[in-house]
Amino acid sequence: MVKTLHTYLKEMKSYAIENKIPIMQDEGIDYLTTFLVSHQIKSVLEIGTAIGYSAIMMAIAMPNMKITSIERDEKRYLEAVKNIKKFKLENRITLLYRDALETNITDNFDLIFIDAAKGQNINFFKRFERNLNEHGFIITDNMYFHGYVKKDPKEIKSKNLKGLVKKIKDYHKFLSKNGKYKTKIYDVGDGIAVSEKIK
Ligand code: SAH
Ligand code: MG
Repeated sequence: MVKTLHTYLKEMKSYAIENKIPIMQDEGIDYLTTFLVSHQIKSVLEIGTAIGYSAIMMAIAMPNMKITSIERDEKRYLEAVKNIKKFKLENRITLLYRDALETNITDNFDLIFIDAAKGQNINFFKRFERNLNEHGFIITDNMYFHGYVKKDPKEIKSKNLKGLVKKIKDYHKFLSKNGKYKTKIYDVGDGIAVSEKIK
């Protein structure tokens, strides 16, 4: 039987659930792919490939667009390599097996999509904003972190989780105070920040 692309997508989603890999939710993917089309984005730098799901969805939505995506976990990177081959997207998606915080990228992009370690968002932002084209966008996923960001901190028992939520709140502040970008946070999926470069 010839497997269809639809079957591959379903298999990727099940793999993500079985292996507890936090791929983007449908609502977030819809928002992101619509954004790519309406802004005619030609190039994306993604921080946090996981198994390649969001990169593949973005590539399908925008023919001709190129994506560079960074992942530091070997198993996930290898799974992403396999998945991208299945979709025959090797020519449009470049995967880098690295820690993004130790990676220097020379190319410039229309969009930078940050979806990696949630406590490091400020560092990712500062490291890669130099790779953004004029009038480019930086989009960050999981701004509400599974709803915890909106909760009363007293209700959060785990110390680690509390620390992470604080870091995400610091990132909210960092964005709202950043005069070089205009940021809006959308209540879709797990919360998506869109930061538009203004000068
Ligand atoms: N964008 C993916 C999901 C990414 S999950 C999708 O929606 O399909 C977040 C990924 O970021 C994890 O696989 C994790 O290993 C990776 N990650 C976290 N910190 C990183 C870093 N500093 N450099 C590279 N990858 C990182
Ligand atoms: Mg995410």
